[in-house]
Amino acid sequence: MTGRRIRRFVGGTAIVAIAILTGVGIRQTSRPAPSSAHVLARRCRGVMGTSCLLVAIAEDRESGEQALREAEAALRHVEALMSTWLDDSEISRLNRAAAGTEVALSGETAEVLGAARKAARDSEGAFDVTCRPLADVWRRAGTRGVRPSEAELDEARASCSWDHIELTDSGAVKHSDDARVDLGGVAKGYGIDAAVRVLAAADVLGGLIDVGGDLRCFGTDPDGGRWRVEIKDPFGGGPLAHLRVGDAAVCTSGNYARFVEIEGRRYSHIIDPRSGRPAGAVASATVVAPHAMTADIWATALSVLANRGLGMLPAGVDALLVLGSADDFRIVCTQGLQSMIEEPLPAGLLVVGGREPVTEAGPMEDGG
Ligand code: AMP
Ligand code: MG
Repeated sequence: MTGRRIRRFVGGTAIVAIAILTGVGIRQTSRPAPSSAHVLARRCRGVMGTSCLLVAIAEDRESGEQALREAEAALRHVEALMSTWLDDSEISRLNRAAAGTEVALSGETAEVLGAARKAARDSEGAFDVTCRPLADVWRRAGTRGVRPSEAELDEARASCSWDHIELTDSGAVKHSDDARVDLGGVAKGYGIDAAVRVLAAADVLGGLIDVGGDLRCFGTDPDGGRWRVEIKDPFGGGPLAHLRVGDAAVCTSGNYARFVEIEGRRYSHIIDPRSGRPAGAVASATVVAPHAMTADIWATALSVLANRGLGMLPAGVDALLVLGSADDFRIVCTQGLQSMIEEPLPAGLLVVGGREPVTEAGPMEDGG
């Protein structure tokens, strides 16, 4: 497989029409792959509810292929522990448990829950894995095609709180029968990190783990340079921008990707835990971070927080938001993310803490 063919599968989001704002040089810092290196790719389906692409640039074909198989196993292992779609996962067992019963958890699940609890504080409650009861209410509303009542929402909201879940030395205890968690906004990132650790330990020259458009890459790309990642247009099919990244994770969330339709209106699968309603203002949020778990968490958090969340990002984490709808949208990014975008930059791009946009964003063109 060539580098060019692989790139078509790399990406998380998409966007359209563009004018040049400024030139940004792209440094090639990674070690070039020797011409003898093999570009190995492995595709898998049915992992974390989506498909994945695993790539290794390896000097030794056999050990590279073995590393890819083990990386896939690492992803499936995380899914088996944390998916709410699997009845025997640790999270499903915790969700079914009665109040006061301690549920034993693996170190991995405990680590993700700990990170999620910290993220709830850091995002001022916007990222909250305990909001599963609210997500269930909206999912059921989608199935019956009728908005939930205020009473239903109030009842669910009362069950959503970290006050109802205590993390112990060996697991977790719920303090309310109705408390439930959903790691759908963070476990994929954690799994990607676990798979990258497997690849990196195999001493490959570079690698990429892409699960449904969320990805992390490291080392050299198939052409010996930095990895090229597409941000998709949330309103169309084409690319909004391309990023050049070295060792980094890129995750995208947004209301364009998954939603329920009720009474002719689309509602995002991402819940604003503070209002109890689906988050609506952010069409897509793309986050670049050293780790996929961090990028995954903040892409979901920014889908709730919009611009305000850019000021809450941890050091070393950058983001690009597409706000609004197809006929009235804005694109905002951090300075760090702007420096990763290949020319041409999206028209009207507003850089937070940077210069004013050269052009105003206009309506997005179809398929442009
Ligand atoms: P993502 O696609 O990474 O943004 O994750 C979305 C998933 O995270 C949803 O399908 C829910 O399972 C879960 N989720 C929804 N809203 C939130 C929230 N506010 N905080 C944390 N997880 C959420
Ligand atoms: Mg997420």
